Amino acid sequence: MTNNILMKTNNDIEPIKKNETINNHRGVLAVVSGFSGAGKGTLMKELVNRYHNYALSISATTRDPRDGEMEGREYFFKTHEEFEKMIAQEEFIEYAMYVDHYYGTPREYVERHLNDGDDVILEIEMQGALTVKKKFPEAILLFIVAPSLSELKARLGKRGTESIAVIEARLKRALEEADVTDSYDYIIVNDDLEACVKEVHSIIQGEHNDLDLSREKLRNRRVIADFKAELEADILKQK
Ligand code: 5GP
Repeated sequence: MTNNILMKTNNDIEPIKKNETINNHRGVLAVVSGFSGAGKGTLMKELVNRYHNYALSISATTRDPRDGEMEGREYFFKTHEEFEKMIAQEEFIEYAMYVDHYYGTPREYVERHLNDGDDVILEIEMQGALTVKKKFPEAILLFIVAPSLSELKARLGKRGTESIAVIEARLKRALEEADVTDSYDYIIVNDDLEACVKEVHSIIQGEHNDLDLSREKLRNRRVIADFKAELEADILKQK
């Protein structure tokens, strides 16, 4: 079952195909973005440690590993050539260039976990988030912000992993991106980690109820469409 089916309107409903099932247990796809230094990484790690229904997607990137980062844990680190080969082989749901480096979300991992009923979290920047929303319209988009610019700068400085030039490039990017936040479903201020983790969890879990409802509605509408198609065939036969 593809996602698109959930978006069908009354007029273009397809009758149920033989042996077709609607995956009622499909997980929620949650996309989390935020300006560099907003604390998304810590927030997401805390969320997946605390609750066990989440699968945190690991992206591929061409940037160098930071101190303490491990291949396959924070990212799959690729060369430019390797990354472009993956693009050509359509291995990404989305990819984007962010401050001179490629970042991309592996397709296979996301689809497998969604189908298994896990709630999948993508921690990606905004261009990528908008691409995901186009391809998976039922995805929810969350934007995390630091309580203030001074706090954001302090966090970036404290991390100590980027040069001043990279920090400045990231702050410039934040300015460019500020207007795109309108496309997000939720904006969450990260001033208290504990409260923020709970809030994100409750938003994603709330989404399950909405999805269940739309799947139920879809199933009922498709039963009617199926019934109608059979009835029309019967009437034709009798003529
Ligand atoms: P960082 O270099 O700080 O780990 O990440 C830089 C930016 O790239 C962050 O905003 C992060 O959310 C984003 N990012 C990480 N993985 C992906 C991805 O797969 N796709 C996109 N579009 N952005 C990503």
